[in-house]
Amino acid sequence: MTDLILHIALPVPLLRHFDYLAPLDVTAVNVGARVRVPFGARRMIGFVVGSARSTQIAPDKIKRAIEVLDAQSIFPTELWDTLLFAARYYHHSLGEVLASALPGNLREGKTLDQKGLLMFSKRANDSQIAAVRGAKQKALLALLANEDLSETDLNLAMPAWRTSMKLLEGKGLVQRFQVSHYQPPMAKLDGPLLNAEQAIAVQAINEARGFKPFLLDGITGSGKTEVYLRAALDVLARGLAVLVLVPEIGLTPQTLRRFRERLACAQAVMHSQLSDGERSYAWTQAKTGAIRLVLGTRSAVFAPLKDLGLIILDEEHDGSYKQQDSFRYHARDLALKRAASLKIPIVLGSATPSLEMLKAVSEGRMQSVTLTQRAASQQIPAQSLVDLRNQDLQEGLAPRSLVAIRESLMAGAQVLILRNRRGFAAKLECHSCGHVAQCPRCDRPLTLHRQAGRLRCHYCDLNQGLRDECSSCKSTELFALGVGTQRVEELMQKLFPEWPCIRIDRDSVSQKGSLEDKLDTLQLGQPCIVIGTQMMAKGHDLPELGLVIVMGADDGLHSEDFRASERLAQLLIQVAGRAGRSKRTGVVLIQTHQPENPLLQHIAYDSYANIAQRLLAERVATEFPPYHFAAMLRADAVSLLALNTFLNNAKAKLLQALVKLELTGSINVYGPIPSGLAKRAGRYRAQLILIAPQRASLHTAVGPWISDLRAEKSPGNVHFSLDIDPYDFQ
Ligand code: ADP
Ligand code: ZN
Ligand code: ZN
Repeated sequence: MTDLILHIALPVPLLRHFDYLAPLDVTAVNVGARVRVPFGARRMIGFVVGSARSTQIAPDKIKRAIEVLDAQSIFPTELWDTLLFAARYYHHSLGEVLASALPGNLREGKTLDQKGLLMFSKRANDSQIAAVRGAKQKALLALLANEDLSETDLNLAMPAWRTSMKLLEGKGLVQRFQVSHYQPPMAKLDGPLLNAEQAIAVQAINEARGFKPFLLDGITGSGKTEVYLRAALDVLARGLAVLVLVPEIGLTPQTLRRFRERLACAQAVMHSQLSDGERSYAWTQAKTGAIRLVLGTRSAVFAPLKDLGLIILDEEHDGSYKQQDSFRYHARDLALKRAASLKIPIVLGSATPSLEMLKAVSEGRMQSVTLTQRAASQQIPAQSLVDLRNQDLQEGLAPRSLVAIRESLMAGAQVLILRNRRGFAAKLECHSCGHVAQCPRCDRPLTLHRQAGRLRCHYCDLNQGLRDECSSCKSTELFALGVGTQRVEELMQKLFPEWPCIRIDRDSVSQKGSLEDKLDTLQLGQPCIVIGTQMMAKGHDLPELGLVIVMGADDGLHSEDFRASERLAQLLIQVAGRAGRSKRTGVVLIQTHQPENPLLQHIAYDSYANIAQRLLAERVATEFPPYHFAAMLRADAVSLLALNTFLNNAKAKLLQALVKLELTGSINVYGPIPSGLAKRAGRYRAQLILIAPQRASLHTAVGPWISDLRAEKSPGNVHFSLDIDPYDFQ
């Protein structure tokens, strides 16, 4: 009898599979099972993609697989189909695609963990509870007062709860146990009565059977989350599971809480901050059907939920759904693909839908349901542009803005200042010689962090002490140029010392749980000033926010990226939507040196729908996506020469291939062009841009080309990746 040959996809960049002999005792294997194999000097975990009785590899060359780890495919069939599609569509190694869909533990070959859900139960009596000191421990006991909670419940309810729970367990006030079947607590909050538009949306979604994509196009505060909750309730009641994707989990603690309070089912979160153990646990529980709802970020699009009946993807336009390195998939596009292969409905929600989805609606490929009214406040904030020209500015803020801040605070409202630059100042310049402190490894100046007394690079990890003299001429006359969030914070503390000032940017919320704490404080509704980066534009529901001031809107007008206008409109409309969400009327002031700029005019005084129509017309005329299709070959290297040689060779190869395929003229190839950030962490970066009127011709040409590039040894240690449907065009 001849040996069984296994075709195995390995997590290496090559776009092909590898043949191995099956382990001696193995006579049959299932496609999708994990296998441990020798690869060079190492061992690797791969995936069976097929088997055969013969192979091209010489008998003395072929190696034997060490062990087969799974009796069945580790992936559900529909997920497997989606992953195969993704590898083909993104021209990425199947082994890498499959590995990236698994939690780290399983990727490394650990076995599926079949133990039950971990639960916690309160054992303390009232006097013991009264004696507990820590605020977090108290909060945990309060959560456990009337119900036992699972680990995943706790992840949803309170960030960073484990340490405090350990303390409580140590004192014998809480006990942990395991259950195989989770009986969720029954008493859950009822939602508000739906308004007419919400009711229509919910009905359309609930009646949908089979693959049906919806664009829930609802202005900020129109009650989209309420629609998701009702749709999810219906699906859960039919015994099916729900997948909910959000752009960034840390930014949406309120959304998590709402799902937890309203839906009586076992839920889990999946995002990049989970430990390996938590992640593989949630993954396994979803697969066995113990968990019925997963709330997660980008990579949760691969959550293997059993009997998945509905996918919800919030803030569909958000760029964080696009993976920005290695396997550059778009979670929205794969979610659509997955819903299609499962034949289930999918709801994409946004107040500022992407042009891609709006085009899909106009072509009848997606059904639009709209919410045009605010659900609770009924008031759309009043927006206006503040002309900065010839004004006496204080740290970039106009007198009119400062007056508005004082008035809002006096009226008891909260104020948000959007400044999308962290740090104190964008750069430090010498007044004597003009020298600017640059990052030696990146093509950017260093950012001044004055409180910390450091100069930091925001593009690599460089972090150096601040000296009080110019490194070039030793002059001590150094000017901090540009306004960062810390600088605005200092001014606010000086001008409005009676009111608290809360800064929310990546520096101030780097500790786990600190963002949630700050957002909780804001929920209390006391008047205060919030200074935030674009983090603050997303999803937050702050009932007492009365005024939003936008700084630096003009930065978005000077970008080379063809998506810049779309992105600026989305950001400003989203941040404006934070204001006036309850009884309070909202005011939004957009500061600009270009008050006549048509885009800013439209953002301030027109609807997003009209802006989007104009931008779509522009994209037709300029032959950019979504009307044309794009791909980029991004590369970086320590040597600029090696980088350009690689890209020029790659371009020549592509042009030759186009001749052979008779596709000359059907794809435009631009470059090599330096990236927007031409050097980062010591490596030069550049790219080729491919644009084609037909998706098919683009993929026909790119497939063999990228396969050849991957198979070759590129001299000069050039790294490269292919970006299909790039989101960033820089
Ligand atoms: P979106 O997700 O569209 O920004 P939300 O779902 O967060 O909007 O709703 C905004 C606010 O309106 C929330 O405070 C929510 O509780 C409230 N809300 C939503 N639907 C209704 C309704 N039908 N009646 C009353 N309040 C509602
Ligand atoms: Zn740097
Ligand atoms: Zn100098």
